[in-house]
Amino acid sequence: MEQYGAITEEIYQELLAAVGPGGVIMNDSEALDNYAWDQAGRIWGHMPEAVVKPADTAQVSAVMKIASREHIPVTPRGAGSGLNGGAVPLAGGIVLSLERMNRILEIDKINRVAVVEPGVVTNDLCRAAAEEGFLYAGYPMSTETSFIGGNFATNAGGGKVIRYGNTRRHVLGAEAVLPSGEIINLGGRFRKDTWGYSLINLLAGSEGTLAVVTKLIVNLEPKPGKTVNLLACYPTLEELVESVAKVIGSGKRIISCEFMDKNLVKYTTEYLGCTLPEQDRSEGYLLIQVEGDTEAQLEDGYETVGKICLDCGAFEVFVAESRTDSAAMWNVRQNGLEGMRARDPHACASGDLMVPLSSVPEMIRRIKEISAEWNIEIGIISHIGDGNIHPIPLKPADMTPEHWARYAEEFFTALIREAIALGGVGSGEHGVGHVKQKVLMDSKSPAEIELLQGIKRAFDPYNIMNPGKMFSPLD
Ligand SMILES: Cc1cc2nc3c(=O)[nH]c(=O)nc-3n(C[C@H](O)[C@H](O)[C@H](O)COP(=O)(O)OP(=O)(O)OC[C@H]3O[C@@H](n4cnc5c(N)ncnc54)[C@H](O)[C@@H]3O)c2cc1C
Repeated sequence: MEQYGAITEEIYQELLAAVGPGGVIMNDSEALDNYAWDQAGRIWGHMPEAVVKPADTAQVSAVMKIASREHIPVTPRGAGSGLNGGAVPLAGGIVLSLERMNRILEIDKINRVAVVEPGVVTNDLCRAAAEEGFLYAGYPMSTETSFIGGNFATNAGGGKVIRYGNTRRHVLGAEAVLPSGEIINLGGRFRKDTWGYSLINLLAGSEGTLAVVTKLIVNLEPKPGKTVNLLACYPTLEELVESVAKVIGSGKRIISCEFMDKNLVKYTTEYLGCTLPEQDRSEGYLLIQVEGDTEAQLEDGYETVGKICLDCGAFEVFVAESRTDSAAMWNVRQNGLEGMRARDPHACASGDLMVPLSSVPEMIRRIKEISAEWNIEIGIISHIGDGNIHPIPLKPADMTPEHWARYAEEFFTALIREAIALGGVGSGEHGVGHVKQKVLMDSKSPAEIELLQGIKRAFDPYNIMNPGKMFSPLD
């Protein structure tokens, strides 16, 4: 790591002049520690030398010019809700926190877009869009904490992907600051573009390894219809998965199709102090949201879906009759990780397997087999309609946290190899970070890696952007 410059007193003063008083944290280990880790867990953390909090694009540019000149590593950071160590400054240097760039700049009704800074909390954007009669369709389960810039940088998915797609689909335009400090503007307030290579698509999911995203133009959907939530409980996972394909293929407007397994529901309902129906005999639950423009359409939608679930073997299908019922169902889904972490604070959330829907039953079977072989208890949560599965393993009681950090990484690597063998990949939405860097590299052909590393070099010749992540070596 000797190639990188250190932040001397002189550089500290220069950074301070660039972002103003209160914009730089240095020599305060307690304050710096808040930026040393993300929701992957403290065990994967690493301390930065400094945290810099710019308030606008010009300040980001000024910071990047200093970092580029001095070869200081820079790790952009949103809310730190990532689950793979993406925002962890592995090489030290600067954590560039976008938390002060948190304004919704415009809701443009004619072009049906919102223009936002990267530090806007996802749910604040959803609320602002709804107030104007629109829908912002991004819906990660972390919607109340994650930032829109982090959603774009990880190409976040979530609970509405089967209907609306992931964040890449919602972002029409972006302003970004290159490692050199130059500012680029991509896309705009329009919905199609064959105007050269799509750099905006390249930045989506690039996890802060290419540029700092400083502004986004996001698509707003027309006001959605009415929705109803259904909870179906199943005696076996095979029957549950059979219904998923049939529900999605039903021609009804399905917004969400989410899965929770028995173990996860047990620990999460204990944590929340509630129960779900049929808990003692259900192997898993489907939470399905159906939309319709009229009451009749809605009724037809949920009756069809309910019948499919029952025909496939569900014990029961509960239709939420009120907002309170719906909130209770979604509360368990949204708190799945917290529920597992209440059981064991070392529960590991990096698992994000992606397989074709037809391979989901086999993938779940293999997850269970491998967990048993590795002597690991797991809970499973899944955006099952997308084929995206999150196994959440608990640390064996007799294992140290340090050993667990390595063991869990190897366990996930074994699962990722199974997902790849089934025609899938190792992440559907959380990204690579550093936790999955090695297995990512192993999974690509030399020709593809050469191309990808060439792109990285073209953006970032000194490898200062988030070193140690994705295709960036640590030194
Ligand atoms: C309880 C819980 C539930 C979750 N559910 C989901 C889910 O349903 N779907 C899903 O996709 N994810 C989910 N996540 C993961 C996480 O919330 C997402 O990955 C989210 O998009 C991260 O946003 P953030 O602002 O916290 O980014 P951070 O964690 O701060 O950063 C993530 C990555 O983006 C980069 N980055 C951040 N901002 C910028 C920027 N402005 N410019 C360039 N790079 C940047 C960082 O360097 C890092 O590599 C969940 C997490 C938790 C804790």
